[in-house]
Amino acid sequence: MHNDHALVEARLDRFVRDHVHPAVYRDPRSVTVSAWQVPREPVPFAEAVQNPFEPVAVGWRWGRAWSTVWLHVLADLDPDWVAAARRAGGAELLVDFGYNRSRSGFQAEGLGYRPDGTVLKSIAPLNSWLPVDLDSDRFEVYIEAAANPDVAGDYTFEPTPYGQWDTAPDEPLYSLAQLELAIRDLEVWELAQDIWTLRGLMRELPEGSSRRHNILRAFEDCLDLVDPDDVSGSAAAARRRLDAVLSQPAAASAHSILATGHAHIDSAWLWPLRETVRKCARTFTNAMSLMDDYPEFVFSCSSAQQYAWMKEHHPQVFARIAEKVAAGQWVPVGGMWVESDTNMPGGEAMARQFIAGKTFFLSEFGVDCREAWLPDSFGYSAALPQIVAEAGEQFFLTQKISWNQINRMPHHTFTWEGIDGTRIFTHFPPVDTYISELSGAELAHAERNFSEKGRASMSLVPFGWGDGGGGPTREMVAAAARTADLDGSPRVTIGSPAEFFEAAHAEYPGAPVWRGEMYLELHRGVFTSQLRTKQGNRRNEALLREAELWATTAAVRAGAEYPREALRDAWHTVLLLQFHDILPGSSIAWVHREAEERHATVTDTLNATIERSIRALVGPSDAPDARPLRANAVASARGEVAALAIGHDPADQSATVTVDEGEDGVVLDSASLRVVIGRDGRLRSLRGRDGREAIAPGHGAAALRLHRDLPNLWDAWDLDEHYRRTVTELAAEHDGRVERGDDGSATVVSRATIGASRATPTVIEQRVTLRPGSSELDLEYRIDWHETEKILKLAFPLDVHADDVAAETQFGHVRRPTHTNTSWDAARFEACQHRFLHVAEPDWGVAIANDSTYGYDVDRTTRADGGTTTTVRFSLLRAPRFPDPDSDQGMHVLRFRIRPAASIGDAVRMGQALATPLRSVVGTHAVEPLVSSSHDAVLIDTVKLAEDGSGDVIVRLYESQGKRASTELTAAFSHRALVLTDLLERPRSDAEPSADGVSVSLTFRPFQLRTVRFVR
Ligand SMILES: [Zn+2]
Repeated sequence: MHNDHALVEARLDRFVRDHVHPAVYRDPRSVTVSAWQVPREPVPFAEAVQNPFEPVAVGWRWGRAWSTVWLHVLADLDPDWVAAARRAGGAELLVDFGYNRSRSGFQAEGLGYRPDGTVLKSIAPLNSWLPVDLDSDRFEVYIEAAANPDVAGDYTFEPTPYGQWDTAPDEPLYSLAQLELAIRDLEVWELAQDIWTLRGLMRELPEGSSRRHNILRAFEDCLDLVDPDDVSGSAAAARRRLDAVLSQPAAASAHSILATGHAHIDSAWLWPLRETVRKCARTFTNAMSLMDDYPEFVFSCSSAQQYAWMKEHHPQVFARIAEKVAAGQWVPVGGMWVESDTNMPGGEAMARQFIAGKTFFLSEFGVDCREAWLPDSFGYSAALPQIVAEAGEQFFLTQKISWNQINRMPHHTFTWEGIDGTRIFTHFPPVDTYISELSGAELAHAERNFSEKGRASMSLVPFGWGDGGGGPTREMVAAAARTADLDGSPRVTIGSPAEFFEAAHAEYPGAPVWRGEMYLELHRGVFTSQLRTKQGNRRNEALLREAELWATTAAVRAGAEYPREALRDAWHTVLLLQFHDILPGSSIAWVHREAEERHATVTDTLNATIERSIRALVGPSDAPDARPLRANAVASARGEVAALAIGHDPADQSATVTVDEGEDGVVLDSASLRVVIGRDGRLRSLRGRDGREAIAPGHGAAALRLHRDLPNLWDAWDLDEHYRRTVTELAAEHDGRVERGDDGSATVVSRATIGASRATPTVIEQRVTLRPGSSELDLEYRIDWHETEKILKLAFPLDVHADDVAAETQFGHVRRPTHTNTSWDAARFEACQHRFLHVAEPDWGVAIANDSTYGYDVDRTTRADGGTTTTVRFSLLRAPRFPDPDSDQGMHVLRFRIRPAASIGDAVRMGQALATPLRSVVGTHAVEPLVSSSHDAVLIDTVKLAEDGSGDVIVRLYESQGKRASTELTAAFSHRALVLTDLLERPRSDAEPSADGVSVSLTFRPFQLRTVRFVR
């Protein structure tokens, strides 16, 4: 036979485009449309319909960016047309708001309402219709149309004015392109779906396969059978011909795919939080209308926050969700409050993501999620396996790691081991997307790409439009039905993630192990972008801990009321703002300005809570016997004040800081620490009591370095390796003056200016402070930042020979190499730390704590003297211009604290102390700690009252240094029993610890996390 394959395929494409698709709808009928323009922010249905609607028509220009228009659509239904529609399979309202691209979730969207205010279905590109009830002689709907701008456009990453209401242009963005009723020909639509699936499959089959040619010739016959002048009348015959190839069963060895309906809805990103509330309503409504039409359809939906939004703003949608959950078609997954970032949230916050999410799903639906669901977060912390397991989950799902630039993750189904040794069964879908449309190309890629072939046979595919929501369509459900058992294709079954995980786990007990973090080799700038958002997170994490501690202490000791609701609300806000495009700094300006405001409100609330609780404990400040006290909320003693206690801390009158003018600069000496600060502001020497020099010879530490920061793509997200090639060393200057504090501390102030000739230069003030008797040096940076597309680093070249550094993560630390031996090490050229970094030889190290900074890098050089310089550099500020053109502009304050001769335990304590300074208070009573731990490595991280309102005290502890430790946990309040629990405060099956009523012995493995409930 002559080879005409390409010609047949080209004929198919043209015929489908020109004849099959246009024949799906016919006999259009016009409608009457009127509109009401919402003045600014969205309003509910009941309020909208009270307003005067003005007539509009197709062609109407509408939609200033972020505005909302309500449309009222009316039509009388002609009985003959209705009869024809019934014969064809139905009728629909076709809507085109004036979309200019095919992707769903990034342009105008709408939600249709019946006249009684109940929601009907949403409208978005590729799902742009509303159902028409043929039992009525009249059609009437309201549509809330949101003029969301396409902020990213073609991803040129140009600065956009569309990221805030006030900077966006006033011109309308859209033109109403279509609004009419039409008869939908079901048989033609089914034919289109047959062709789409078979065509997609055919193109993935080898050129030489018989199956490919069987499909090709079936298409050729099918095209002959379809009459272009009567597609409707000839579609059935064409489908019968295709059925010969559609009905051939899959091979015995075919890959199995569990497809689960899904809609990735970023809780904020290129749209503000308020728009996500509406995106959820639209997406969820669509998912539920699919459930009504297709009983086999299952929808997996994460993020308790998004459900909570429905409960608050769309109670009818929420009520329907509850019904669908009960029916098993709607599956809450993940058990987190939002799909958060997992690199930056602190330990307790990471735990609370699961606690808050699971508590919501349990209380609203009785559902206990078994799988963590994080398809899109930017890398996965090595602390997660333990946190996930402690939350009572068995499985983990990720997808994003397929975005790695350099190294390919070797496994798709594996066991993931965390810092403490906890292992969790994990799947990384080989389809390489969480927004599948179940195309032939995607299904074939899933099978080809699957690393576990030969040992395992199944993978998971989340299908449905996403990022901006949208979710599954009837076309995707049709594709799933056609690939359930189709020769040449993986076998597709619709189901839930838990079904997949159970089956996958059962068939693959020997799954390979991945140990440690899943570092994403991309988006390395997200540890630094939008500093204010990050500082709000860090600050409020510390304040939440402090507020819960003092509120619990006040409740137990003074009978004060526990501010349960206020604390829960504060947590929910902080957890929401940890969403994987908010905390990383990759959202539009609107989102980050709002995040800063919300963080500020939480800070005020928590400070008020803390002050009220402490006041209840220490008594009046104006009593005759009142005296200065200090509240120490961290897990280690400070001065004379015990951990978690409030006490008197008399200043050591003998301790001083001497100031000398040395040859290299100003010398500050506290007797425990001696530092030389050069005239350029750099630390020329730093020695602790043991006299060993911390700074590498010939270098200055605390060196400010300014780099170009021009990533190839993804400006707010990415820091590309080439940033290192251009650097300006910033010389600061100080005038030799030394400021003396009331406490006897000495501060040397230096200033550096960038762009002095500009109208708004960047000015950096560095304040180096040594306190009397202190072994630690404080560094404060007050930066008025006016750069664009630059990154500011703060470098510490240390005279330490270290193969790795310890960087704090949740409930412990990770070690990352200082070298680039492997491509994995080389790709990790910017990483995440929490409150400290520790660089050490076996018995001597340097600890550097910070109050604001997550991004850092490290490298090593060998000096002429043979010694090794290990240089750590912290990323202070960036200034990307997309998606927020003004990101990071203005004033910032960042703090560091450095200590030579520091152990890992010192580093842990420094990080906590910098995050939670001592609070000065005047009162009559010192306060003993409620609980204490005898081992300095086992830290009491959280003290709170139980979520169940019982008044029980919950204490969360972890081993913080990476070693085995036994501790005596002592409770200084009466309690009836002590129970080990999971994160959700549910009893664990472990044997009860032996307790004598006052203290209990607990043994911890390295980095182990435990939760104890004191029953009162
Ligand atoms: Zn996302």
